[in-house]
Amino acid sequence: MRRFLLSCVPLFVAATAVAQSVPNTTLPAGYQRLAREVLTEAVNTNTSASVGSTTVLANKFRRRLLAAGYTPADIHIVGPDAKNQNLVVRLRGRTTGRKPILLAAHLDVVEAKRADWSTDPFVLRAENGFFIGRGAADDKSGVATLVTNLIRWKRDKWTPERDVIAYFSADEESDATKGVRWMLAHARNLIDAEYCLNTDGGGVDLVNGRPRSFGVEASEKVYVTFRLEAINPGGHSSRPRRDNAIYELAHALERLESYAFPAQLNEVTRAQLERSAALQSPDTAADMRLVAQGYAGGVPSADAQAAMTRLSRDSWFNALFRTTCVATMLDGGHAENALPQRAGAVVNCRMLPNDTPAEVEQTVRRIAGSAVTVTVIYPPVSSETSPLRSDLMALLDRLSARYFPGAPVIPSMALGASDGLFLRNAGIPTYSLSAMAGADGESNEHGLNEKLRESSLYDGVAFWNDLVRELSGH
Ligand SMILES: [Zn+2]
Repeated sequence: MRRFLLSCVPLFVAATAVAQSVPNTTLPAGYQRLAREVLTEAVNTNTSASVGSTTVLANKFRRRLLAAGYTPADIHIVGPDAKNQNLVVRLRGRTTGRKPILLAAHLDVVEAKRADWSTDPFVLRAENGFFIGRGAADDKSGVATLVTNLIRWKRDKWTPERDVIAYFSADEESDATKGVRWMLAHARNLIDAEYCLNTDGGGVDLVNGRPRSFGVEASEKVYVTFRLEAINPGGHSSRPRRDNAIYELAHALERLESYAFPAQLNEVTRAQLERSAALQSPDTAADMRLVAQGYAGGVPSADAQAAMTRLSRDSWFNALFRTTCVATMLDGGHAENALPQRAGAVVNCRMLPNDTPAEVEQTVRRIAGSAVTVTVIYPPVSSETSPLRSDLMALLDRLSARYFPGAPVIPSMALGASDGLFLRNAGIPTYSLSAMAGADGESNEHGLNEKLRESSLYDGVAFWNDLVRELSGH
């Protein structure tokens, strides 16, 4: 999970802002207890890639869900090997002929070293209103949200108007080959849906304890990595040649450094700018509006171009507006007193979803020049921007006003990548909206002492109950 981060750019906070805590949760006490119990079970079951297993956790949930009234035919535990199984649960709806809605969370977590943490990362701890443990936020809060609601819906004997599928993936934190990619290749029928709502991403930003924005990721950048290499016969360093592998590579990297891919907006980034401008300082807001209007198609006005240049000085805006490529690793030479026979660099690019991989590769080759070869070492997986469905956006506006008053719903393009990438690529539009509230940097996902506010879990569970019921016939 990557929390929705407008806050990479400092949020503008009015001097008159008054600290106010998040409203008390509306989740009934019995479901607060259940959510806490499920989160405890989830965190206390190690699902890291090294020594953990998603299969163990999937089976624990299977027992819970059977006890709640699901039948064995509703629950599937599938995957490529014994250790990395995925869990799929189907809540059967009335037969309406409509494709199901998919809900997603991931079971696996990033590694956590016991010695570095203040207490055991795989034992959930509650302290000062926070849950602390590996996965407390990313993404076992999402897992607990879905499992708790699946049980609640069964107890309430709720029948949605169409099937609702909950998918709990393995292997999200590495390359998803045992998780969502495996599912799409081998068991797509189990998770095929009209669209997907993902708990892993988005989130509610709190500033001075007040909800400031509700994030929905509807698009993400595409990851692709190249190796640039210069090769040369070399020779004795006492007699330098005109051509030199290290210099040729260095020149290519310099050209890459100074190159800027063309700026462009898509439906999601345009809405992101429009809806979040009001949260920024007046100058930044004015520039964001100029860019949103000016880059809506056709040639942008001089004013819009100037605003784009100003905003692009900030690395976060720059990454939002264009494909970026940057050198991340370097190697070369074989002896102190020899001319280099080989020099290489790794260049990692994050493509805008509208750019085509072939064009980006061509651009990198052109910049590298004839003396430097370019090979793809991590091929891109294209990912279309998910259309901002008006039914979903209107509902989120309403629910955000109810749960997080004053927080506008802001669609966003994530700069990283997640399971949503593969689902979008497979034609299942995906919206990541954890609805978990926290201050910037507070949850420390992937880091030490990962944590989540207790109230955020309960609000999140209540929010997702309303969200799914309102989308599927109450
Ligand atoms: Zn995650």
